[in-house]
Amino acid sequence: MLENKIPLGPIEQKWQKAQFEMKLVNPANRRKYTVIIVGSGLAGAAAAASLGQQGYHVDCFSFHDSPRRAHSIAAQGGINAAKNYRNDGDSIFRLFYDTVKGGDFRAREANVYRLAQISVNIIDQCVAQGVPFAREYGGLLDTRSFGGVQVSRTFYARGQTGQQLLLGAYQALEEQVSAGTVTMHTRSEMLDLVVVNGRARGIVTRDLVTGAVESHAADVVVLATGGYSNVFYLSTNAKASNTTAIWRAHRRGALFGNPCFTQIHPTCIPVSSEHQSKLTLMSESLRNDGRVWVPKLKEDKRPPGSIPENERDYYLERRYPSFGNLVPRDVASRNAKEVCDEGRGVGPGGMGVYLDFADAIRRMGEAQVREKYGNLFDMYEEITGENAYKAPMRIFPAVHYTMGGLWVDYQLMSTIPGLFVAGEANFSDHGANRLGASALMQGLADGYFVLPYTLPNYIASSTLEKVDASHPAFAAVKDDVAKRVAAMLNVRGKRTVDSIHKELGHLMWENCGMARSQAGLECNLAKIPKLREEFWSNVSIVGSGEELNQSRAR
Ligand SMILES: Cc1cc2nc3c(=O)[nH]c(=O)nc-3n(C[C@H](O)[C@H](O)[C@H](O)COP(=O)(O)OP(=O)(O)OC[C@H]3O[C@@H](n4cnc5c(N)ncnc54)[C@H](O)[C@@H]3O)c2cc1C
Repeated sequence: MLENKIPLGPIEQKWQKAQFEMKLVNPANRRKYTVIIVGSGLAGAAAAASLGQQGYHVDCFSFHDSPRRAHSIAAQGGINAAKNYRNDGDSIFRLFYDTVKGGDFRAREANVYRLAQISVNIIDQCVAQGVPFAREYGGLLDTRSFGGVQVSRTFYARGQTGQQLLLGAYQALEEQVSAGTVTMHTRSEMLDLVVVNGRARGIVTRDLVTGAVESHAADVVVLATGGYSNVFYLSTNAKASNTTAIWRAHRRGALFGNPCFTQIHPTCIPVSSEHQSKLTLMSESLRNDGRVWVPKLKEDKRPPGSIPENERDYYLERRYPSFGNLVPRDVASRNAKEVCDEGRGVGPGGMGVYLDFADAIRRMGEAQVREKYGNLFDMYEEITGENAYKAPMRIFPAVHYTMGGLWVDYQLMSTIPGLFVAGEANFSDHGANRLGASALMQGLADGYFVLPYTLPNYIASSTLEKVDASHPAFAAVKDDVAKRVAAMLNVRGKRTVDSIHKELGHLMWENCGMARSQAGLECNLAKIPKLREEFWSNVSIVGSGEELNQSRAR
């Protein structure tokens, strides 16, 4: 039976009440406790820095060579906060309302309300760290709009918001590394979770450079390991974000929540070849000024500049006049697919729609468009060879963000006591979220503001027996890991890991992607187990387990 542990009382007072009721750990006792944090993206780095600063001993693991390489760095568009600096009707309640509505009413409302309350503190925290948010001429923080809302509440740092926020969290983390409270273990992959007497008490890792398999014990384990979009093979996520950590925890008993909720982002560069391994996002912020259209005629092969205004269909503006091009992501994505399925798509293969800046350039001039979106236009040109100041961008929806993940209660604890889950790795507060700029907000809320209360509360309310890496449970997990690796290496079949992954991704996109049907889901239920058999009987993993092995890491 799942117990969400939401405090009683009016929604506006739940978090404050919970904060006061949570037990504390005396500063002198904190250094006696070790916390393992897997992941040093926004959620993991924020949690490690905050808990390190409180005085806990933190071991932080990442398979990247630096915390700065976590996938959070890719976030472009911005982070929401209910500051109402624009005086345009925003409030904590409106951010809560928009998020619950944008989450198709499947959100856990108490968590969303807490998120909206904390959102205002996040901006203050990041500004204090020196995060260079965009500012208006007068020096005030600037905001822009994102899909599905009618206020301007998205704070941004050009098209590099995630990078700048991550640098802020990274410097806070490094401060604790130099203070000796946080030990960073880079190039280390979590291979398994160790559960002792029903509580998460450590992890088994692999040093990605030497291949050494090691055990690490702790009092609490936090997973902040990102999402699982890579199951679709092609997505906007980095290939290195394999997020197998939450799957490994699931095998040890942590339940999943809502794994079917995947966000499809409408503004990505269309697939151009079978050999592609990744898709590129063009930030949603572009829909603030770019206009989405396709030709009215089917199979119209004329270049965009030769199609007159009255032969263009600005279908989002036509169908959704109050939101226009800034409809929620799922609405924009479904509409793009629909017009392409009708034969009105543009570009090679007809799987694209135009995102046109001609009007914006006429209205505010190319220099201002460059000022706002210059790095995104450059990125587009580098990838497609096309100049979006001269001709419209071509975009198409792609898998972008996973709302499902490990189930957590109000305290962010999974169904395994002592295993906390933060950021994209947990099943989201915000339901089937169709909005943008919420993921950065959630990752930082979890890391800077929620875990620093709930994790000490767990420590202070539990009797934690002394456990170190010599406990037999660690040897047993290491043995399981060794057997699994040996079994994989011994298959010695004919197919690469990538070819099997690609086939899986194709099935997922076709049948569990933007549109789903009973027949499609049944087809996958029949095909995926066969593909799993194919993996275990015909995969070829070159090299051994004792060295840097990229094929295995995949
Ligand atoms: C292209 C792009 C643009 C985006 N733009 C926005 C935006 O504008 N606004 C917004 O709100 N959201 C945006 N998002 C979503 C947002 O960036 C992510 O949801 C968020 O940054 C995830 O942060 P995280 O800390 O949970 O995970 P990540 O940043 O993915 O970090 C995961 C960490 O876990 C580590 N890790 C994973 N598995 C293991 C393992 N087995 N062993 C050891 N370490 C492991 C990794 O090394 C990494 O340190 C965007 C996402 C993408 C892909």
